[in-house]
Amino acid sequence: MEKTVQLYEGKAKKVFATSDPAFCIVSYKDDATAFDGKKKGIILGKGVINNRLTNRLMGLLEENDIPTHFVEELSDRETLVKKVSIVPLEVIIRNISAGSFAKRYGVEEGIVFKMPTIEFSYKSDELGDPLLNDCHALALGLASEAEINKIKSMAFKINGILKAFMLEHGIELVDFKLEFGRLPDGSIVLADEISPDTCRLWDMKTHEKLDKDRFRRDLGGVEDAYNEVMRRLLGDAK
Ligand code: C5P
Repeated sequence: MEKTVQLYEGKAKKVFATSDPAFCIVSYKDDATAFDGKKKGIILGKGVINNRLTNRLMGLLEENDIPTHFVEELSDRETLVKKVSIVPLEVIIRNISAGSFAKRYGVEEGIVFKMPTIEFSYKSDELGDPLLNDCHALALGLASEAEINKIKSMAFKINGILKAFMLEHGIELVDFKLEFGRLPDGSIVLADEISPDTCRLWDMKTHEKLDKDRFRRDLGGVEDAYNEVMRRLLGDAK
């Protein structure tokens, strides 16, 4: 399959068309942004780590009957995926208070919830990804009721699988963001990425941050943290 034209360039990835309209190639960049693109930087080697980690985690999810867009890792930075139409919702699951949840509700970070929480935001850079509930998503025609129910049940199942896998490797899955897509037959699959860019990951014992919060909050050791997650979850480091 040939890589053809660039379809899209996002903050952390580029997407290319291929000679087969059912497939795309995703290419991961080292560019990092935060706070709606106001903070910009480079995390050296991030594209390789996020590509490899996403593919490993999507493979794990597929083994556990979660359908994803993943097809084949083509190189360190490039992956073949099924072409989907992205549902314009950012789906956030939280196991422990942190980030915008802690800020919005005035609580400290690190409160372990009895049950995971879920929230949606409307994927719109111009609007700053505003929070919305199921009724808002329906009113705006972003997804059908059946799709929203499917997305919610998949997101909680994904959380259970990822949380257990990360704990085996000494990592607490604090929270993370998922995106879903529609295949041409209308079925919903997990899309986008699962990486230290899109998850909060804390060391199980020390609670040290091993994710993009090190970049967002100028904590230093950003590359080391990404490499450490790759070493633990993939058993190697580059
Ligand atoms: O900022 P907030 O606390 O709402 O983020 C929750 C989780 O979702 C974090 O793991 C963050 O990395 C992820 N996220 C993301 N992309 C966004 C917003 C949040 O990956 N646009």
